Amino acid sequence: MTEIKRVLVTGAGGFIGSHLVRFLKDKGYWVRGVDLKYPEFDETVADEFNVVDLRLRESAIDATKGVDAVYALAADMGGMGFISSHHAEILHNNSLINLNTIEAARMASVKKYLYTSSACVYPEHLQLDADVKPLKEEDAYPAAPQDAYGWEKLISERLCQHYREDYGLDTRIVRFHNIFGENGSWEGGREKAPAALCRKIAEAKLAGRDEIEIWGDGDQTRSFCHVDDCVEGIFRLMNSSFSEPLNLGQDRMISINELADIVANIANVTISKRHVDGPMGVRGRNSDNTKLRKVLNWEPKISLEDGLRRTYAWIEGEVIQKGIVRSVGV
Ligand code: NAD
Repeated sequence: MTEIKRVLVTGAGGFIGSHLVRFLKDKGYWVRGVDLKYPEFDETVADEFNVVDLRLRESAIDATKGVDAVYALAADMGGMGFISSHHAEILHNNSLINLNTIEAARMASVKKYLYTSSACVYPEHLQLDADVKPLKEEDAYPAAPQDAYGWEKLISERLCQHYREDYGLDTRIVRFHNIFGENGSWEGGREKAPAALCRKIAEAKLAGRDEIEIWGDGDQTRSFCHVDDCVEGIFRLMNSSFSEPLNLGQDRMISINELADIVANIANVTISKRHVDGPMGVRGRNSDNTKLRKVLNWEPKISLEDGLRRTYAWIEGEVIQKGIVRSVGV
């Protein structure tokens, strides 16, 4: 078996990347993190952290020097609000990031390369009902993703496949389904549904209000996976011999309205929901985890309620802290 000692995590200043760096450090790896920015909510524990722009070829070449494996997480991304309104920017930036990173990995003779794809690769027409059939890996073709974000992910998956076939780069491809948890974006436009709902409910609670806004009718469905399960799954996949795309998420599907009710229950408040116009993404989405269970002999374990309890506590703390900062005028 190839020995991996030194690893690169791209997107190490982001949500999943910063958790992955900590996980890999705990496992004893030497870790280099790169990103456009340092982690926002915590000090990095990486052995080396470089602020770089992977849209530049030279930066990608420098980033991959001397590492045995690459976890490629860097991406220009966000929640539905961002993804549905920045198609050109997303396609342009993410294409450059992934073209440069995989080519630099090949040039550096990296032994293993893991690419983080998304459930957004699946065709929109398979996700028109809230009560949707769970998506199997094979469902990605014939291709018809909803947004540029999904198209780019699909192309970068193909890039991994062809680098493996043509150059022998040992690639892995993981398709995340809605990862959430502490230390992720919770305001500013890039946050996703669980973080946005935690923030809205915390703000309403602290201001003594009992109403929050929900985009659309709230009947759109998703499954949600805690970030601790996500990094465990990434690591297991990297250490498997499976090189085809693999779903990584929970397979308990709930609506956004139900998600809001769970968060309100955790916050110990009663809220009413005002449904307003807003981007909703596909109508329904769930992960078929049959292959995940078979390949990794494992599946995500943290319940939605447990994960949301931790996430809500962290976001309520952030909201309170921000309120204090605002009130002293900093
Ligand atoms: P994130 O936005 O928190 O992290 C991505 C990081 O990439 C950011 O810190 C960003 O600064 C960095 N980045 C962007 N452009 C860069 C550039 N030009 N050079 C260097 N770094 C750059 O997102 P995340 O939730 O941690 O997602 C990690 C990966 O997982 C991404 O590839 C994302 O598309 C994928 N993914 C995430 C989810 C999810 O639910 N969070 C779902 C599907 C796929």
